[in-house]
Amino acid sequence: GTPLSVPITLPNGTTYTQPTGLFIDGDFVPSADNRTTEVADPSTELPIARVFKAGAADVERAVAAAKRAFESSWATADPEVRAKCLFRLADLVEQHADTLAAIESMDNGKSLECSRGDVALVSKYLRSCGGWADKLYGNVIDTGKEHFAYSVREPLGVCGQIIPWNFPLLMWSWKIGPALVTGNTVVLKPAETTPLSALYAAQLCKEAGVPAGVVNIVPGSGRVIGEALCKHPDVKKIAFTGSTATGRTIMKNAADTVKKVTLELGGKSPNIVFADADLDKAVRSIAHGIFYNSGEVCCAGSRVYIQDSVYDEVLEKFRQYTAGIKVGNPFDPDTFQGAQTSQKQLDKILDYVKRGEEEGARVVIGGKRRGAKGYFVEPTIFADVREDMQIVKDEIFGPIVTVSKFSTVDDVVHKANDSQYGLAAGIHTKDVNKAVAVSRRLKAGTIWINTYNAFHQSVPFGGFGQSGIGREMGAAALENYTQVKSVRMAI
Ligand code: NAD
Repeated sequence: GTPLSVPITLPNGTTYTQPTGLFIDGDFVPSADNRTTEVADPSTELPIARVFKAGAADVERAVAAAKRAFESSWATADPEVRAKCLFRLADLVEQHADTLAAIESMDNGKSLECSRGDVALVSKYLRSCGGWADKLYGNVIDTGKEHFAYSVREPLGVCGQIIPWNFPLLMWSWKIGPALVTGNTVVLKPAETTPLSALYAAQLCKEAGVPAGVVNIVPGSGRVIGEALCKHPDVKKIAFTGSTATGRTIMKNAADTVKKVTLELGGKSPNIVFADADLDKAVRSIAHGIFYNSGEVCCAGSRVYIQDSVYDEVLEKFRQYTAGIKVGNPFDPDTFQGAQTSQKQLDKILDYVKRGEEEGARVVIGGKRRGAKGYFVEPTIFADVREDMQIVKDEIFGPIVTVSKFSTVDDVVHKANDSQYGLAAGIHTKDVNKAVAVSRRLKAGTIWINTYNAFHQSVPFGGFGQSGIGREMGAAALENYTQVKSVRMAI
């Protein structure tokens, strides 16, 4: 049979022990039907390990364990106990940072530099969550002479959490951090192609003293596990990050049991360069805005708008900057852009490139697969696009950006807001009044001014429109994992 852990030699030469079992009730276990799935390295297309694949019976076991843990200890644990678990977990992530970053690059294909950034954010976020443990305040409400009322925040119960493959470990932390500190327990499903870091981190949860059953990890099919979690009567909430299409399915499946649902979905975010911007800085910002993490970012600045008087100049600078981006082996320290995460994503991206050419957009640079092995794509700029083109409308989720011209503020605000999505937007200008005025008119959950893709553990993140429901990080995330109880009494 398949072992419950295997030694893996990382591309940097060190060997570590990778858990391969499901993590249920504090232990790594095989799936009930012993099914496994192979995980591969997208930069070499070679297999890494076989991991157990959960089925519906395993979801039953995991939900039962999470329910027991919720009822017996975690929901009522002293805040200090929860805080200490999260602080220790943050420390362990730091101590294991090199291994975690290497696992992430091997499993997802992203550059090691990206993975290191992710891991650093993970430990900061878990520590920040731990700090909320004894600050979950309610309100005292004056209801007149004869009555007195107060409200408290209580945990929801077992939370089903479903995460994608683009930031496997970072999304794991955005999900478990706020859930745990508020007293909930978790059954988390990593994406099919990237389960390794969440399983490794399950071991760290154990070491950190997180009690058995509080965190359960069930790698497996989105349709099977996702559906089982969404429909389970003992699961009280679903938190999901991924595509808008799957978000809709989740809402439908969660409707029969009226589960609380928070969704962090897709985007097609505009990134605007005004003529009065620091153009060199703006070019660096729009390049990082789209090519960071190989373009596999929900808030990627995938629609660039440049003011007409500087259009040619900025486009040429953008082309030059893009020509200097190193694409290749994620473990090469000079690599900025690693591999796309799977054959499916590679095919989808190349298909959009073809469609863009057919629609009459001009390829300024890139547009091709790089090399014959590994899912590498050249950073690609399409210029002179029309707003009705498919490549301007759809989330491509790769290193593909469209560039077009605008003349006035009204013109660009109209174009920027003309999308079903509303996750993020970028504004580049030296005029502070213009920056603030435009930010007020843009329909997006995050606005970056003279920067892009800048995250902080205290700043809420989430979508307007069909980009999602709810906010992650900061105090806002705690609301996703608590419900208000009002108590009113006669004096
Ligand atoms: P997806 O949304 O289908 O997958 C994300 C997660 O949802 C995975 O864990 C998957 O197993 C799970 N899932 C799939 N079907 C499910 C279902 N019916 N019920 C519950 N969970 C389910 O995304 P994908 O198919 O891997 O990628 C397709 C596209 O989605 C990408 O090209 C990209 O445009 C978008 N995407 C967006 C994000 C984001 O962060 N916004 C992340 C990943 C993918």
